Amino acid sequence: MEDKLMLMIPGPTPVPEQVLSAMAKHPFGHRSGEFSSIMAEVNQNLKWLHQTENEVLTLTASGTGAMEAAIINFLSPGDRVLVGSNGKFGARWVELSEAFGLEVETIAADWGKPLDTEQFQQQLVADTEKKIKAVIVTHSETSTGVLNDLETINRYVKDHGEALIIVDAVTSLGAINLPIDTWGLDVVASGSQKGYMIPPGLGFVVVSPKAWQAYQTAKIPRFYLDLGAYKKASAKNSNPFTPPVNLVVALQVALRMMQAEGLDGIFSRHQRLSKATREAVKALGLPLLAPDHAASTAVTAVAPVSVESDQIRAVIKKRFDIALAGGQDHLKGKIFRIGHLGFVSERDILSTISSLEAVLQELGEDSFTPGAGVTAASRVFAQS
Ligand SMILES: *Cc1c(COP(=O)(O)O)cnc(C)c1O
Repeated sequence: MEDKLMLMIPGPTPVPEQVLSAMAKHPFGHRSGEFSSIMAEVNQNLKWLHQTENEVLTLTASGTGAMEAAIINFLSPGDRVLVGSNGKFGARWVELSEAFGLEVETIAADWGKPLDTEQFQQQLVADTEKKIKAVIVTHSETSTGVLNDLETINRYVKDHGEALIIVDAVTSLGAINLPIDTWGLDVVASGSQKGYMIPPGLGFVVVSPKAWQAYQTAKIPRFYLDLGAYKKASAKNSNPFTPPVNLVVALQVALRMMQAEGLDGIFSRHQRLSKATREAVKALGLPLLAPDHAASTAVTAVAPVSVESDQIRAVIKKRFDIALAGGQDHLKGKIFRIGHLGFVSERDILSTISSLEAVLQELGEDSFTPGAGVTAASRVFAQS
């Protein structure tokens, strides 16, 4: 049957019908009054979503473009940076920083484990000459389902006093509480196809006053991603280059939906979805990659032992038209990932878990009690 695809991957995520139909119209001029009034509303609501008074700059780029902008606008070749790396996206920060000639000190942890905050503290305390210009961290590590303890790492950065904190919030923005101003985060990057409930194509960067100071002296060359130009345009509810106007219209509608649900509602929904998924997976006897105390509420990574993860993904796609994500790099074929961020409801989790049970049975996995996963998930939903 066509058009029944259920997207349970950590991006692109499902898009509400209201948003899809808002996009389905002719593009219009991005220098028009119509566009700037939409942009005015969108800019205001983006600040609300980001819990910040700083500008939220909208780029035509995927999340990685926003990450690149977060580096090149605030640093100079040869600058020393501390980069947390415990998954595919932490590794991307390392590659990106090295590509622009930064002197990278990596703080690594095994994929599936959270970053050790004490290692950041040691390095920062030891840096009495204030050579470290930035600490760069992935908040929700999508490749493993690990949530890094950004709040604690950020506290050590604040004790250091000089370094900027630069954050990949691509799968935490709009899913997990991230009080940018309360914590004093300097640069926060995210992308539209994750928690924003719209298709891929927009990147977002939030910049603190301290980061704008660093911008003045930063020497990495920049042009299309020069955030100064975006800041200037943003003050006039405009954009330096042609933005994907239909995506901005989509964003306007999605942000209204988010406001109707409220930040607390959004965060607690993600917590319920994550808890139900994890309890269900445990009840099915499948190992979880990330520990409970460091679980991202955006995505759950499962490491099956006696059945192959890629076979589970192939069968659940073929039989039930549910898309699950696989593992990346050395976790390829070893894990599958259930995305539950953005426009995802409790019903979607129950459908996914019951389909997963059916697939496991079809593949001859008989070590669990049929219905145990659905029961465990339902119990979580009944409690909250
Ligand atoms: C999706 C994602 C990105 C950005 O990926 P793009 O494909 O460039 O949008 C970056 N970091 C994390 C943690 C992600 O989940």
